[in-house]
Amino acid sequence: MNCLVDEGHWGIYKNIENMPLERFDSFRTIINEFNTKVGHITQFSPVRGKRPFEHIDDKEEIIRSPKDDSFCKVVEGKLPAVLLSRDTIKCEDALSINSAKADLGDHTAISIVNLFTPMARVLYDNVQQITSIKDKSVGIGLVHLLVNHYDTLSEVPISEVEQLLFTTRLAQNNSISELKSKYDTEKLTVLHFFNIGEEAGASICHLHSQTYIYANEIGHGWTSLGFLSVPGFHKKLKNNMSYCLACELSKNEGKIIDPIGQDLLLKERTIFENDEWLVVTAFSPERDGQLRIFPKRHVSQFIYLDDKQISKLAEALVIANKALDNFIKGASYSMHLLQDRNILFRQDNIGYDSGMHMIIDIIPIQRIGGAEIMETYRIATMFPEDVAMIMRESLKETN
Ligand SMILES: [Zn+2]
Ligand SMILES: [Zn+2]
Repeated sequence: MNCLVDEGHWGIYKNIENMPLERFDSFRTIINEFNTKVGHITQFSPVRGKRPFEHIDDKEEIIRSPKDDSFCKVVEGKLPAVLLSRDTIKCEDALSINSAKADLGDHTAISIVNLFTPMARVLYDNVQQITSIKDKSVGIGLVHLLVNHYDTLSEVPISEVEQLLFTTRLAQNNSISELKSKYDTEKLTVLHFFNIGEEAGASICHLHSQTYIYANEIGHGWTSLGFLSVPGFHKKLKNNMSYCLACELSKNEGKIIDPIGQDLLLKERTIFENDEWLVVTAFSPERDGQLRIFPKRHVSQFIYLDDKQISKLAEALVIANKALDNFIKGASYSMHLLQDRNILFRQDNIGYDSGMHMIIDIIPIQRIGGAEIMETYRIATMFPEDVAMIMRESLKETN
């Protein structure tokens, strides 16, 4: 088969030797009951080193990026892309090798294959079928982006965020089912996140989210293991197989004591809620200002959110991001908080059925020290209840 694509672009490889691979830290990796590795993973993807960095080089606090970036060019039909979905319409198959230029100006949001995808998506001549891919990274890297150029979620009209989430759900669904059948597996690891701003890891600041879906039993890290193990632990401790802490929280009815005996001070930490979502400051924040968003109805994965949950999530995300903007603007310099942030969709792995209730974390960039790198640990100087009070007041002023 003839292939004109640069090696590794859109995750397309001609030579198995060039495929990204992963290594686990032998000193902190185990094999779990699903026969997948759990530990610290480093993935090596040399093609990622060739990514362009498209930023306006100044030290202003507000994120600003040029309006002629690569995503704007894709939308205008000046650069080719492998287009998987536009709004709620499916386009190419997730394992397609067809890239094309197309004017997408009539749409609101699209999903494309990541040009510098960190895993191999397609191999020519079907070498993907051979068994020696064991330590290679295979799967799909997706980018979900808005047609209009924005730098941050706070400035996007809610209706556009809604379309972004709809097109994301569609592209994830199609990619998951194609990977399941290609690799004949029920187990996939899905990492879904926003990097907002250069310091949060965005190489292009044009607002976008990403999904990495791994199909090679890459397993997961200790952080995911925590989230996936806790629901079962809670059920056992409460001696109640239908117990879910996030469901209890989401009712938002007065005092909640968690299964390990802590009063979660829920009322004090609540920032915003609508019919479907609850936005609170994190009880035990990883960084100052961290927000946590819960669906009120129990759902384990983003792809299982229904249309109403998606619509209401758009509103919750925009308001949560505005509240965080306001808090960071007023925070003392000694906190070293930046406006750049990551939004992490913490969810069950595909095929695990851990009982996990999906959680969305919004975490700003903040300087941290050795103890905090050494452990899932942090020393904070401000209580989340006080952060929440500032955020609630700031929302009253801006609305
Ligand atoms: Zn742009
Ligand atoms: Zn639940």
